[in-house]
Amino acid sequence: MKTDLNDMLMARARQVIPGGVNSPVRAFRAVGGTPRFVQRAKGAYFWDANDTRYIDYIGSWGPMILGHGHPAVEEAVRQAAADGFSFGAPTEREIELAEEILALVPSMEMLRLVNSGTEAGMTAIRLARGATGRNKIIKFEGCYHGHADALLVKAGSGLATFGNPTSAGVPPEVVQHTLVLEYNNIAQLEEAFAQHGKDLAGLIIEPIAGNMNFVRATVEFTRRCRELCTQHGALLIYDEVMTGCRVALGSAQSVYARSIPGFEPDITVMGKVIGGGMPLAAFGGKRAVMEQLAPLGPVYQAGTLSGNPVATACGLATLREIKKPGFFDALAAKTRRLVDGLTAAAAAEGVPFSADCEGGMFGFFLLPELPQNYAQVMTSDGARFNQLFHGLLDRGVYIAPALYEAGFVSAAHNEDDIAATVAAAREVFAQLGG
Ligand SMILES: *Cc1c(COP(=O)(O)O)cnc(C)c1O
Repeated sequence: MKTDLNDMLMARARQVIPGGVNSPVRAFRAVGGTPRFVQRAKGAYFWDANDTRYIDYIGSWGPMILGHGHPAVEEAVRQAAADGFSFGAPTEREIELAEEILALVPSMEMLRLVNSGTEAGMTAIRLARGATGRNKIIKFEGCYHGHADALLVKAGSGLATFGNPTSAGVPPEVVQHTLVLEYNNIAQLEEAFAQHGKDLAGLIIEPIAGNMNFVRATVEFTRRCRELCTQHGALLIYDEVMTGCRVALGSAQSVYARSIPGFEPDITVMGKVIGGGMPLAAFGGKRAVMEQLAPLGPVYQAGTLSGNPVATACGLATLREIKKPGFFDALAAKTRRLVDGLTAAAAAEGVPFSADCEGGMFGFFLLPELPQNYAQVMTSDGARFNQLFHGLLDRGVYIAPALYEAGFVSAAHNEDDIAATVAAAREVFAQLGG
């Protein structure tokens, strides 16, 4: 049998890196098998250690909206690197990137750049607490906001519960102020505000949840989140790390503003696409809130590499491409064709299937109807998903190695890629059956 270089690399990686990976889901634990070690990537494809090509529907979990190695972005990064990697002093490009993001997401009047979505989410919570002088926060089951202690909580079953830490190493005291509710459950939301309204600093939510596959907050639920926060003086925090500049140029909040005129969150957390594949994220909001941050205000936050010159160059070049006229319409139409193609292929083979998409982000379930919350997502059959995952992988199509992850289409995917993906899926669906 031919030597599999991915197997060899994984064996070596396991000796020096826990589980062989630097972020858990990369390890393929849920789906089994050996992770593909990426050698290089271009456009819609990457090549693994064996030089096998895959159509990439992860795109670094969202950032690579232009595809890999876009020439304009590559050039911007090269030029920036030639001028120096990091200074620990301000640069003009940080202003340019801030201006660019604020123009796209006007609910933010000011923002601060950081290195990861985790950092941005963690600081957004600190800021909400500092600005309101309150401690409690609401999050929703199935939403991921990075791995800061206070946000690493899942819900107990059904009713609202004060969180039990999901991770070992998080003292109960640290999450005692985190209230975990069911996504899209208006009655539970109203009850939580009725009971804790005066102590609530903020509510943090993924407007389209991409960390339990793809689940939209309903318009009515979104409207109630906004109304209740306003009534009780809590801040509405939109975690758009995944959806930001991905589901629409103006991010998910612009999608909800179509149905709820004037809708905007108080604080927005951004990451992934705005860095174009470099470590870069941001959080922002109204001027009065943001001026609570050091050095102006009492809420401390800092970062040695924040606003890094190479990362900002990468983000800026990426945003300049995606705001070109027609970019998002084309991306959304292509993503829709993929989702429709997969849906038709599943129907033809009698496989229960539901799928949804917005802009360049999609999700699908081996369930007859789209789930509305985490508990419903968890009714999916993991074994069947794993068969689908490996069936696609064997045919050169790389989707997320877990059923609770969203998928991403880039500008570099062409019609042949979409058609090849649908054809591969149909073959696998035929094996899966009803
Ligand atoms: C990816 C993600 C994060 C965490 O960002 P990192 O850069 O991985 O720390 C936070 N929130 C959401 C919604 C995400 O998708």
